[in-house]
Amino acid sequence: MSCTCSGKCISYKASMPSHKGRYESGQKRCNSCNAYIFWKGRFCPCCGIRLRLSPRNSKHKQKFLKITHQRKEVVIHGM
Ligand SMILES: [Zn+2]
Ligand SMILES: [Zn+2]
Repeated sequence: MSCTCSGKCISYKASMPSHKGRYESGQKRCNSCNAYIFWKGRFCPCCGIRLRLSPRNSKHKQKFLKITHQRKEVVIHGM
């Protein structure tokens, strides 16, 4: 099973919704195909990788960055 874009996703490509967000209107993001597709399954019909169902959790990411930043500071002070 390959994890590369074969161009099939073009027929599933979703257009930008005018009122709702992409994920709210049922669109999913394929990072391999670099496209938003309208597909009911959890895996991309084109390349077979798992689709992103919701937007990035920015809060979680910020927390993660903060922790790594603090760790760096500790290392600097320790030296
Ligand atoms: Zn594709
Ligand atoms: Zn894909």
